[in-house]
Amino acid sequence: MRLYHPPSRGVNAVGLPRRQSHGYNPPMPEHYYLSPHLDDAVFSCGGLIAQQAAAGDRITVLTVCAGDPPDGPLSDLAQGLHMLWQTEGSPVAARREEDLAACQRLGASTLHIPLPDAIYRFGSPSEPFYPTFTEIFGPLHPKEEGLLDELAQILASQIPADAAIYAPMAIGEHVDHRLTRMAAERLGRPLRFYRDLPYAFRDGKPAPELGIPSGTELRIKLSPDEIDAWAAAILDYPSQVPSFWESDDEVRKELQSMYALHDAWIVIET
Ligand SMILES: [Zn+2]
Repeated sequence: MRLYHPPSRGVNAVGLPRRQSHGYNPPMPEHYYLSPHLDDAVFSCGGLIAQQAAAGDRITVLTVCAGDPPDGPLSDLAQGLHMLWQTEGSPVAARREEDLAACQRLGASTLHIPLPDAIYRFGSPSEPFYPTFTEIFGPLHPKEEGLLDELAQILASQIPADAAIYAPMAIGEHVDHRLTRMAAERLGRPLRFYRDLPYAFRDGKPAPELGIPSGTELRIKLSPDEIDAWAAAILDYPSQVPSFWESDDEVRKELQSMYALHDAWIVIET
């Protein structure tokens, strides 16, 4: 898989009110959230993104698998998921629009890497690398090992040297979450690992070959308003929400329950 097209950057937008500045201020902190798919960073980290945006920090949600499907027939799995998502026109274009809306709401920019989702990746048209959920929730296909270096190089070229980087732990074992974590680890930079939601709150297991990253646990306090902003941003992904929640209200309740469990939202800093 070669990525011929440059990543596309979404417009920066302001969601929650930002802190006023007076006189000279040093540049505000910058944060890059690595999202395997067009929803994961907001699903997992939306409360902290809202908090950082309100403080005036610069935030980019970088989605790894934001590329269009290849031309030609799709696997049965991809066709079935398209029916489930019920988008109009191109499902991936619709998902990019959802991501843009959610990130605008939170006050983050978007950066979309044109790698297709695992469900669209093939060795040859008759040989999808990940034909069923068994493969989707398994390790990287041996023929895709080269993707790791390629993705790590793209990340290194796109993320400023002084930005904090947030990466998924790959809880839930999805292959694209493993890919994103492993590419992030190849950067050789400090990382903040987030738990993949909602998998992590529903007995999702870490990928066995990766485990839970070792580091310092940061317990971050969120306000009720920040949790509300997080829930609202999740609902900006209408094609994806029904796969995980039965109602809008359930989204907010699950976030509140998860937060109440530790009275904090937790990341592991390396
Ligand atoms: Zn995902």
